[in-house]
Amino acid sequence: MRDMGFRTKQIHAGVTPDPTTGAILTPIHQVTTFVQDSIDEYMAKGYSYSRGGNPTVRALEEKLTALEGGVDTTAYASGMAATVAVFLGLLQAGDHVVIGDVVYGGTYRFADQFLTKFGVDVSFVDAPDLDAVGAAIRPSTKLIFTETPANPTLKVTDLLAISDICRSAGVLHVTDNTFLTPYYQRPFELGANIVIHSTTKFLDGHNATLGGAVVVDSAELQTQIAFARNASGLVMSPMVAWLTLQGIKTLSERMDRQSANALEIATWLEQHPKVDYVIYPGLASHPAHDLSQKQATGFGAVVCFEVSGGVEVAKVLMDSVELWTLAENLGSVESLITHPVTMTHAAVPRDRRIAGGITDGLVRLSVGLEDVEDLIEALSQALDQVSQNS
Ligand code: PLP
Repeated sequence: MRDMGFRTKQIHAGVTPDPTTGAILTPIHQVTTFVQDSIDEYMAKGYSYSRGGNPTVRALEEKLTALEGGVDTTAYASGMAATVAVFLGLLQAGDHVVIGDVVYGGTYRFADQFLTKFGVDVSFVDAPDLDAVGAAIRPSTKLIFTETPANPTLKVTDLLAISDICRSAGVLHVTDNTFLTPYYQRPFELGANIVIHSTTKFLDGHNATLGGAVVVDSAELQTQIAFARNASGLVMSPMVAWLTLQGIKTLSERMDRQSANALEIATWLEQHPKVDYVIYPGLASHPAHDLSQKQATGFGAVVCFEVSGGVEVAKVLMDSVELWTLAENLGSVESLITHPVTMTHAAVPRDRRIAGGITDGLVRLSVGLEDVEDLIEALSQALDQVSQNS
């Protein structure tokens, strides 16, 4: 389906009506094992045991391969499981990796506490600083891991430039594309080798599942990473794959509406007297506004801001705001409000957080599909209230 448009592919890629019943949706193959016709014909139908592969999960993998423009995909129990499978598949003791200094807190935690425990050296580097990334590469470096826009500060990294650095150094470029999804950003077109997703976020979009995916640009990488998945058991379940298959069908519509809401909210917050600053790549004030427009076709639905009065005022705001749900996920149709320091990035030591711009008073919004006027009104009332009480 490579020649068809994204909206067509998000609905049809990977999915064919069930050949035995004609069911339009991929059946949920809720099963452990697959019966073999004979020993000589083992795996003739492609499946043996659901840890190695499952037809419902496969349909989702084929859809994601088509949407990202990759060569193949493996799906996982969570976004973290996807990241861990990449590390397990590609690294060994004595290797070195370069990771952006602002990434999802769980990625930081796994690299800092587990990669190092197994003898892999990690350098956390300001990824937009291309000289710093180049200087961090050692003979033992195996991969550079980027996430853009990064969670939570929306720092934007030049994917093409990092891919060039990787190619000259002979290392792999792995990037987490969770925030923009292939609808807005396609890292393979910018030279990346591996694209990671937390499908938990915009791909599912309904706060219904935890899932992850790794899309690769070569059959060789697929073999290595699928082996790590089978050996570790980090697999996605058929039910999760089925729900994610349904969620993805409306990805473009949700992303466009949620991002339009996000831009309106960011613009409104930026002129609010009680807000110190707003971070959103769609604002002209974002340092990488031009780069964002160059490498992606949309800015996404996550907005960050600092309220005047710092952390205490921010906490009251997050506890009291109506309509916005205080919760840890992002990318869902429900608008969520998060305090990264106590929630998503609690594992990152304070000095490292502050250096990366994850300040104590930072508020993260994941803008949903509600009427934007209602979302703004709720924030407006909460900001009025906190400023009266502080
Ligand atoms: N990558 C990014 C950018 C994320 O925001 C998250 C979760 O917040 C993850 C990966 C991990 O995904 P999961 O929660 O599905 O394990």
